[in-house]
Amino acid sequence: MMYPDTFERVVGHEVPIRALQSAYRSERLHHAYLFQGSDGIGKRRVARALAALLQCEAAQAQPERTDACGECRACRNVAVGSHPDVQIIEPDGRFIKIDQVRALQQQTRFRPYEGTKRVFIIDGAERMREEAANALLKTLEEPGGQSMFCVISAQPQLLLSTVRSRCQPLRFAPLSTASVVEVLVGLQSDKREGGGVATGVREGAAAASGGSVARALQLLESPVFQRRDELLGQVLSLQWSRAGDVLDLAQSLAARRDELDDVLDLLLLVYRDASLLAAGAGDAQRNAAGLEALVDELSSASTPSALVSVVEAITRTRRWLQGNVNARMVMERLLLDIVAARRPDGALAQRPA
Ligand SMILES: [Zn+2]
Repeated sequence: MMYPDTFERVVGHEVPIRALQSAYRSERLHHAYLFQGSDGIGKRRVARALAALLQCEAAQAQPERTDACGECRACRNVAVGSHPDVQIIEPDGRFIKIDQVRALQQQTRFRPYEGTKRVFIIDGAERMREEAANALLKTLEEPGGQSMFCVISAQPQLLLSTVRSRCQPLRFAPLSTASVVEVLVGLQSDKREGGGVATGVREGAAAASGGSVARALQLLESPVFQRRDELLGQVLSLQWSRAGDVLDLAQSLAARRDELDDVLDLLLLVYRDASLLAAGAGDAQRNAAGLEALVDELSSASTPSALVSVVEAITRTRRWLQGNVNARMVMERLLLDIVAARRPDGALAQRPA
């Protein structure tokens, strides 16, 4: 199946897209852009849509168009990755290698094969060693007029400052939860990924994804999100009087360290909702779809400030886990913080259904 690369099909990112369209309309596109923003939010899709616009036959025939048609031969070739004037360079293994940049450098010396511009999309641009980065810099310094570069990076601070300064920065914000859901639904209806997901789980993963489709897809695949009710039940039924349970659960969670990030995302999702609710926010602020009853129960069993302290504890735990710490001890501390946040009377005695 073919996915046309058009601005219209991109979910979100109205601001950078509008900036590109208006530069295109006034023939003031820069020769190099730096697309910066978190991973998995659609920066490459926007770059491909821009590349398609620059190659699109319909756009060339109709100067008032500011989006690729998605249907002409050029657009179809861009969509399947076979347009000779649109190249995507990305890490081959861990890094973008010097040979890849040299090949790109070579190509910029030739005229476009078909269109009027060659577009080079350099994705994951921070993953270059010095030699490759210097070669890229050299390429960016020799514009030539017929080449255009979209440098994409989630960590632009790692780029050479000289590379950064050659590029016009374009910031991409994380997607809203609704936008992530929209993309996920689109992927599912195209039978590509995330098929057969229960609605609440998808919304929950989107809400916990930090606005990244890539992260949401990871969460959907995560065993933690698939058995989230069971896991939350275990955490929230812990009691002061049964300290052994706390230690056991901390140990079993810590034993699967690669899942801990997902566990923290799940807890954060629920506790953030509960703390907002306890602070008087309306239902519109809710993110944890399918977990409303649990959130209600949590928010009534704790004070707003105790819930906020759990949110802080989760964030702190995540930071600690990025360092070289004993995961079991860190999780014990978090679970104890969670137990302590409960009102002494409000026991949360029953496990959530
Ligand atoms: Zn077209």
